[in-house]
Amino acid sequence: MTAIKCIGILTSGGDAPGMNAAIRAVTRSAIYNGIAVKGIMRGYKGLVFDEIVDFRSQSVSNIIQLGGTILKTARCKEFTTPEGRKKAYENMQAAGIDALVVIGGDGSLTGAGVFASEYDVPIVGLPGTIDNDLGGTDSTIGYDTALNTIVDAVDKLRDTASSHERLFFVEVMGHTAGYLALNSALASGCEAAIIPEMETEVDQLAELINNGFRKSKNSAIVIVAENPQTGGATGLAERVKKEFPQYDARVTILGHIQRGGSPTAFDRILASRMGEGAIEALMEGQRNVMIGIEHGKIVYVPFSKAVKHHKEINRSKLELVKILSI
Ligand code: ATP
Repeated sequence: MTAIKCIGILTSGGDAPGMNAAIRAVTRSAIYNGIAVKGIMRGYKGLVFDEIVDFRSQSVSNIIQLGGTILKTARCKEFTTPEGRKKAYENMQAAGIDALVVIGGDGSLTGAGVFASEYDVPIVGLPGTIDNDLGGTDSTIGYDTALNTIVDAVDKLRDTASSHERLFFVEVMGHTAGYLALNSALASGCEAAIIPEMETEVDQLAELINNGFRKSKNSAIVIVAENPQTGGATGLAERVKKEFPQYDARVTILGHIQRGGSPTAFDRILASRMGEGAIEALMEGQRNVMIGIEHGKIVYVPFSKAVKHHKEINRSKLELVKILSI
């Protein structure tokens, strides 16, 4: 095994708060260990189109508190083709990069796995996504910040919901994973969470209206995970208006606000530990693994396990939302 002399780092897919803290940790841990660092701009696009810059310790000064990603991010169609990946490999070689750290969600880590299966490149991934939908880690970088952003927004909506005696449907991100919806509902004392892992929305909604809102409440907030198939919160509100015209149902879609803002202390610490973990892993000769943290300890998760084995949702929490909203 040849010792790694230079790593390339990129952020890919949707941005998540804490990505900058991760970039800082990877860069400084590498430099501390005598490894040079190159920043790859715009995710895999920067590899395919050769946008690669030298990174020094100062390149990551003053970014730990910033949302977004200083490396920018993008979705890159070319990288999904063998020709695109060949160009990416050639550019990497020309820049003297002999290992990669990829920060992103399941698409980005899937791409990393495909690349590593074709070329002899050690790659370590960091879970950077607000959705918390990767296996092998208790939390992903950005999830805690997004959760707190939602809770803050729902607290504000609660004021108007109760003043006007309204039923609010608040749509949050996570069309394949209900973590944000479920935990924000619990943390903000909502009446229900409608999540993709559970039975049909119609059943859940009827239960909410019949057992909760109608009997004891004059205002309610329901958190709904986005759902392109059913129309998410908007689709639900339309159905409610039709079936229960007596309720003043309103919709708030939080959208990209959930991705922004300064990362919480939790996300900064997570990103810092995982970033250092990525360099440790590469120095140990690990390859094609995502860095996770389970029960407080760093773990190495094969890409295939990280992207395919989504965490089970804690169903008792859904029950708890119901119990606590009587
Ligand atoms: P988020 O969780 O925020 O959606 P993500 O990492 O899942 O982030 P994607 O848009 O799914 O975001 O993927 C990011 C990029 O990863 C894609 O634009 C593409 O370049 C690359 N990628 C995804 N899947 C593959 C694949 N099967 N083969 C090669 N590259 C891929």
